[in-house]
Amino acid sequence: MRFRDLQAQYQALKPDIDAAMLKVAADCDFISGAQVTLLEEELAEYVGMKHCVTCANGTDALYMALMAWGIGEGDAVFVPDFTFFASGETAAHCGATPVFVDVDEDTFNIDAASLEKAVEKVIAEGGLTPRVVVAVDLFGLPADFDAVRKVADKYGLLVLEDAAQGFGGMINGRRACSFGDISATSFFPAKPLGCYGDGGAVFTDDDGIAELLRSIAVHGKGEMKYDNIRIGLNSRLDTIQAAILSVKLQALRNGELQAVNAAAEKYTELLDGVVSTPVIPDGFYSSWAQYTVRLESREERDRVQAELKEKGIPTMVYYPKPMHLQKAFDDAKNHDLDCGVTERLCGTVLSLPMHPYLKDEDIRTVAQALKEVL
Ligand SMILES: *Cc1c(COP(=O)(O)O)cnc(C)c1O
Repeated sequence: MRFRDLQAQYQALKPDIDAAMLKVAADCDFISGAQVTLLEEELAEYVGMKHCVTCANGTDALYMALMAWGIGEGDAVFVPDFTFFASGETAAHCGATPVFVDVDEDTFNIDAASLEKAVEKVIAEGGLTPRVVVAVDLFGLPADFDAVRKVADKYGLLVLEDAAQGFGGMINGRRACSFGDISATSFFPAKPLGCYGDGGAVFTDDDGIAELLRSIAVHGKGEMKYDNIRIGLNSRLDTIQAAILSVKLQALRNGELQAVNAAAEKYTELLDGVVSTPVIPDGFYSSWAQYTVRLESREERDRVQAELKEKGIPTMVYYPKPMHLQKAFDDAKNHDLDCGVTERLCGTVLSLPMHPYLKDEDIRTVAQALKEVL
């Protein structure tokens, strides 16, 4: 059994993916080919945003958003404590100070009350200006953007949606990648919409910001490539990746999203009363980047993971360490904010095999094995 079966997906989509890749090889339009523009239009239309700017990876997507807003030294960027490193790394890379905020125990996403406390603390301490909240759609579930937006509006914060794992998710019919003032996603192979290498995209409704993002992605270009009006990056999505992504976006729309949701439902039904299963609030729809359960204690989690491995069932711990305890953020002090929920989650979470091609019998095997080891 595979944790995320990219081979099964390739076999299902092989004729279309092969044709798309071969066309790029034949055209030799490897950078900024027509497929890139086409994909940007398809992505913008799908998530319901005016602009999509593709780039080299999801980390750059976050970084470009912060650069476009001019975030830098003396700025506080609020980031959930329970997420992948890049959500906070990019703020630090800009020279800003990441401030780590605790998450909600049920949804794993940033907790609006903890966010408000963190902003108040930073204001009371002085020295930093609260500028941005990075709200992560962890494991495929959109963050509670109504609650986040209320706090953001109260304190004049910009909202950056980190939808690296959230692509395809929804709140009341509205798609992930449309909730931030800027939203960023990743096409890393194992994400809900993944390519065959690295890739990313940024979304916005703001014409000026979109133009800025396009400039930043290509060495701060002005009217043309050899007119450079700001310091930028070299961050483009390869044509071959765009071609693959168009095929995979179709597959995501035409059944993959439904398939992961059916798989999640099946897991939740079979694991009822066995472990704590993921909570999807009313009106929310997940794209199930991960199906993550919670065990009672670190000892139990580590034992269960080891025993499942012996039974041939791969699992992962996302994430073993809170952001505020990462050595790279040693200087960030974190303003004595309490992140007790994140600390508990890091010790008790376990992600089970999850992907659109997971078979019913595999789900039953995993559930049965979990019951046995517990
Ligand atoms: C994967 C991921 C990123 C970074 O994306 P890359 O394409 O790997 O650079 C950022 N944030 C979160 C939450 C992620 O899961």
